[in-house]
Amino acid sequence: MGNIPSAVKHCLSYETLAQDYPWLVRWLQEEKFGAICEFPKTVKIVEVGPRDGLQNEKEMVSTGVKIQLINMLSETGLPVIEATSFVSSKWVPQMADHVDVLKGITKSPHVKYPVLTPNLHGYQAAVEAGASEVAVFGSASETFSKKNINCSIEESMLRFKEVISSAKQADIPVRGYVSCALGCPYEGDVEPAKVTEVAKMLYDLGCYEVSLGDTIGVGTPKSMAKVLQSVMKEVPSSALAVHCHDTYGQALANILIALQMGISVVDSSVAGLGGCPYAPGASGNVSTEDVVYMLHGMGIETGVNLSKVINAERHTGSWKSEWL
Ligand SMILES: [Zn+2]
Repeated sequence: MGNIPSAVKHCLSYETLAQDYPWLVRWLQEEKFGAICEFPKTVKIVEVGPRDGLQNEKEMVSTGVKIQLINMLSETGLPVIEATSFVSSKWVPQMADHVDVLKGITKSPHVKYPVLTPNLHGYQAAVEAGASEVAVFGSASETFSKKNINCSIEESMLRFKEVISSAKQADIPVRGYVSCALGCPYEGDVEPAKVTEVAKMLYDLGCYEVSLGDTIGVGTPKSMAKVLQSVMKEVPSSALAVHCHDTYGQALANILIALQMGISVVDSSVAGLGGCPYAPGASGNVSTEDVVYMLHGMGIETGVNLSKVINAERHTGSWKSEWL
């Protein structure tokens, strides 16, 4: 073996080793796999179908159907179900029945039912209708903010400040959203630094959790990692959630990388309902069924009963087919 290069000698010795000790190769591979796969043991799923999903359905969904859907979801073990939005019915007619929906559902003591409140007016109406948790919806893109909530990012923060300080006095928890965290339908790429700035503002204002939304589903695992890397320097990972849309089939991959980076709260929508009326081309949110299936397959607990979620999905299928 005198003139065999050392790299080849190394290979030969590895081959010999593998032949003689096959268990050692398996052991090394498993060790390596274990090192790259540190996932959380439990994940909290935030169901956004009845709000984010339904608000983007073109056909008006009856209040009764919405209530029935939320009641079915309440039986699945989901810990959080975003019920409706107290946005002006002029902007989102689908959510005009917010008071009836919130008052009509059978609230489970094990489930939280946050509602979206874009401003103090919406917040007051929500509390009057019995909301015990609210959410504010900001954007990392200036153009999207203007087109979606009709004000600049700075103005939106002033509105949220009013909502959050009132909520604090009433001991009502507030969740924050950052839309366009991985891309904007008007501006294209969005700088991770901008996402970080908006997420930090919401967190500093008092949001207990900030959900980073890939509103139009353009993110990939690499851009998700870049954004999280930046945001996690300013906001603790325990206070962050990811909200992925499946426009290009990237949602589960993006969620997977987020889990690996220490995120343990995932937004999803039953039957993948959703999209965005202000984001042309946006398809639905990642479906709750797919997320639960993946997490359970990986041995991660969610407390959610998949077959009950599938029943709720069939319910959405039945009312959709009535339109046809
Ligand atoms: Zn969404």
